[in-house]
Amino acid sequence: MKNECYIVRDLLPSYIDQLCSEESSRFIEQHIATCEQCAELLNQMRVEFDIQEQPEINARIDQIKPFQKIAHFFSAQKNFTKFLSISFWVALIVTVGFFIYSLNVLSELNDEREETQEIEQQKRDIMKDTFSVLSAQANIDELALQAVFQEYSGQLEHLAVFHTENIDDVTYLQEGPKNFYPIDYSQAELVIGENGKITESIIPNDYDLGTVAMANDQWIVQYEYQESYLQTIENAHQIKYYPPSIWTVFQLSIVFFIITAFILGVWLIQKRITKPVENILD
Ligand SMILES: [Zn+2]
Repeated sequence: MKNECYIVRDLLPSYIDQLCSEESSRFIEQHIATCEQCAELLNQMRVEFDIQEQPEINARIDQIKPFQKIAHFFSAQKNFTKFLSISFWVALIVTVGFFIYSLNVLSELNDEREETQEIEQQKRDIMKDTFSVLSAQANIDELALQAVFQEYSGQLEHLAVFHTENIDDVTYLQEGPKNFYPIDYSQAELVIGENGKITESIIPNDYDLGTVAMANDQWIVQYEYQESYLQTIENAHQIKYYPPSIWTVFQLSIVFFIITAFILGVWLIQKRITKPVENILD
């Protein structure tokens, strides 16, 4: 063995661990190229190194594995938190949207209620005006009746006056204006239309809310709404007898409010759980 061999053998462990300087490494490589013994020794040492180190590396990987699993777990938790926060804001926006929509519906509903009351009032006004004409004179004042009709010409198709003997029982009609199956116009004392007295035969409207009648001891007044006004009458009828409840108006808002609150709750719980490890997650 040459002197160089001793130096090289001292350096070999560091060389294998790749801890030698560039000069030392070059020196070792040059020597090994010419010295069979040292080359042999290096090979042996490398084999031993692999046998020693590999289990250690495997062990280290085994140690890391659970931590990787935990890291995956927390990264999934982090994504879940993100999902919750996005869901919360989306649900909140949808809730606010539905709430504004519900308020609009409610305000429209109030307008419709007012309109319904106006229609009901108008129903009574037409009768009141007509009966005041009828009671003023023994005979029917055709011109005065025409004037009443003109006042409501936007809504009325016909305005007719009958004798009470034309129906069996007038007590029902004496209570106030009623929607009534039309009395045959051919029996009328007088029928007023857009252009005054109507003499030709009239086919009554078959819509049961389209005709209104009321009676006193002597007369029955019956009028029919115009075709174009019937939808308004129908709407008013729906609002009066089948008004949507507050729950119906706000149900989507309430449902989404509950969903939003639920998501918020889960989000807050999730935040509390992950708070202690938040720094680890980052
Ligand atoms: Zn040597």
